[in-house]
Amino acid sequence: MTTNDFSSARRTPHPDLESTPAATVSAGPGPGPSPADLLRRLRARGAGDPVTHVERVPARAGVPAPWPSWAPVELRAAFARRGVVAPWQHQAEAANLAYEGEHVVVATGTASGKSLAYQLPALATLLADPRATVLYLAPTKALAADQLRAVAALELEGVRPACYDGDTPRTEREWIRRHSRFVLTNPDMLHHGILPGHAQWSGFLRRLAYVVIDECHTYRGVFGSHVAHVLRRLRRQCARFGATPVFVLASATSGDPATAAGRLTGLPVTAVTEDASPRGGVTFALWEPPLLPPDSGSPTPVPPQATGDHDDLHQVRRSALRETADLLADTVAEGVRTLAFVRSRKGAEVVAANARRSLDDAVPGLGDRVAAYRGGYLREERRELERALLHGDLLGLASTNALELGVDLVGLDAVLICGYPGTRASLWQQAGRAGRSGQEALAVLVARDDPLDTYLVHHPEAIFGAPVEATVLDPANPYVLAPQLACAAVEAPLTPADLALFGDGAKEAIDELVAAGALRQRPTGWYWRHRERPEVDLRGEGGAPVAVVESATGRLLGTVDGGSSHFLLHPGAVYLHQGVSYVVDDLDLADGCALVHTEEPDWSTHARDVTDLSVVSVRSYVDAGPVGMFLGEVDVTSQVVSYQRRRIATGEVIDTRPLDLPTRELRTVAVWFTLSPQSLAAAGVQAADVPGALHAAEHAAIGLLPLMATCDRWDIGGLSTAVHQDTEAPTVFVYDGHPGGAGFAERAYRTASAWLRATRDAIAECGCETGCPSCVQSPKCGNGNNPLSKPDAIRVLDVVLANLPE
Ligand SMILES: [Zn+2]
Ligand SMILES: [Zn+2]
Repeated sequence: MTTNDFSSARRTPHPDLESTPAATVSAGPGPGPSPADLLRRLRARGAGDPVTHVERVPARAGVPAPWPSWAPVELRAAFARRGVVAPWQHQAEAANLAYEGEHVVVATGTASGKSLAYQLPALATLLADPRATVLYLAPTKALAADQLRAVAALELEGVRPACYDGDTPRTEREWIRRHSRFVLTNPDMLHHGILPGHAQWSGFLRRLAYVVIDECHTYRGVFGSHVAHVLRRLRRQCARFGATPVFVLASATSGDPATAAGRLTGLPVTAVTEDASPRGGVTFALWEPPLLPPDSGSPTPVPPQATGDHDDLHQVRRSALRETADLLADTVAEGVRTLAFVRSRKGAEVVAANARRSLDDAVPGLGDRVAAYRGGYLREERRELERALLHGDLLGLASTNALELGVDLVGLDAVLICGYPGTRASLWQQAGRAGRSGQEALAVLVARDDPLDTYLVHHPEAIFGAPVEATVLDPANPYVLAPQLACAAVEAPLTPADLALFGDGAKEAIDELVAAGALRQRPTGWYWRHRERPEVDLRGEGGAPVAVVESATGRLLGTVDGGSSHFLLHPGAVYLHQGVSYVVDDLDLADGCALVHTEEPDWSTHARDVTDLSVVSVRSYVDAGPVGMFLGEVDVTSQVVSYQRRRIATGEVIDTRPLDLPTRELRTVAVWFTLSPQSLAAAGVQAADVPGALHAAEHAAIGLLPLMATCDRWDIGGLSTAVHQDTEAPTVFVYDGHPGGAGFAERAYRTASAWLRATRDAIAECGCETGCPSCVQSPKCGNGNNPLSKPDAIRVLDVVLANLPE
């Protein structure tokens, strides 16, 4: 008997049990080619070999552990009824630590059963102590709802689990506060509802034994920094009522999860990272779509704004969407159950539609076995799709990221990943959907035409040899800290004892709130002075969100964060929402709303801005001869001044239209480097080429930063100039696109030589002549990618790297 057989014997799959180990919908046995055979057939399709690397990820046997002795018999029986016969070792280890009162984060792969790790100690405690309570936090309502079903299905006496979120009817809220002992909610509700109403929650908080933070890796950047303080406010209220709950966190595999969880909670956290669940082997191929002949205009199926793909003006490779659609059609034709991940909803629909079309061309009717999954489906519709895929009625599904699926859909025979999902952590999460116990599966990463994807398919060691990224957040960001302290002061006056809780910068932030008249200092502490609570949106970045309203019906389509609104919602902008195209009639910044009407023009729109940057202060720097590397605060002033209309099919520019929008200011954190003009001249960069050299280096550096930190290029801005008024030298700035910074620029500064080395290599190794989207062109350039000098960018980076200490 092999260990894999053993593992499957221990667990009976229950398709209806979500988000617990046995919940994972495991596809039934099916014939079909081996991954190696399948890959051979796929790569033999066209001219040339698109595969740049094949990695074999070996199968892993599961390591079961006995139930902890403290787990009550009725709880074990309840899990057994749901198909869980015994925990895996990592589940037992985390559960034991939590039960002993240690804060713990379990950071293991997709479908490794992280839920059991917190359900076990939490539910055992609820059964042992009829007064104890548990608070569970998920980043989305859908995930909380799935967890609710999983806990409710255990049918444990007296637990009374309930979701408490924005959708909970008022009439039920009081009952939940008084009677539920397992409340599932999200950080926004904790911030807006529970903490401000702490008096009503005192009974619950007083008895709080565990706080569970699921998918905690999603709390990153500015949002993560806000959540960190919401959790400190929760701890503060619990302490007032005499409770010191144990925190149990679940994370996708991530770099240094103990540190990230410690920053998030402000507590010492022990990490459990050794995944002991069984996994089938995976053949992982890196796939680079072929370069198209120079004169073949490649029609891109959807506008760039919809897909997150860059503009098609300079497109020289076959689009990753087309390539993925073909691969999906081919695997489905082979009878292989396949899930394709595409970054945008529209992109997922395009991939499914194209695959369906090719299949129907081959065998009429075969196209029906492919579907698209997008967010916004009802739970029943999602379940139906998942069921169809499980039973093989459906063979191919194109979907956006996994969180939206709402269940752990694993055990697929092939996973196609259209474009690098931004982090190694999410790459492994998506690839983790492939493979079931005892059977091999195929995963394919299809590179998009951009610097990071191109770099990765040519540097497999950056994927397979590197640890996954650390989750970056910065609770000391004054733009987060001050409003959070204001919220805390409303909940209860701040005292000197709170300074340590809120951490670095808390005293300064309080002093500023006092100076601004928001807080009043009294002998007993700092008091909130106003009648109204401060308005603080955890997810709001760069100003109040702008509502998108359909003029004809008054229907609210959605919101766009203030920072992006000038780019996406200027008058005349083509705005895509859930696959439907709208054109903006009016952007009313005073009212924070944009009026739109449905229209599907055959052009897309691309806003351009002008940016100015001044240095406020230097936090840290490295003096390296002709090169200087700096971290500091900057003021960025930008104005969206015009937009281009481009033909979707060809990328041809129709016209450029002026816009009249106000300038915007951003105080944030930047990393920048300077070079002496002499060192550039000595490296062979002509004075006239310096702007293009710096600009190209800046673009590529922004494109490669996600290699170092969990951000994407849309979180970051850049500016380069042959002489900057503050540095008086040729300078490249890269800054956090969020007020007060989000930790990305700081991370770039700390890893500068590795970051710029990868940037240099990405440019140098790109096969193009003069620069392309795979190296130095940027999809969000405010200057229309002009000027750019690829060879000189390499010289610039060589000078920096030659002087900068490792
Ligand atoms: Zn290139
Ligand atoms: Zn640019």
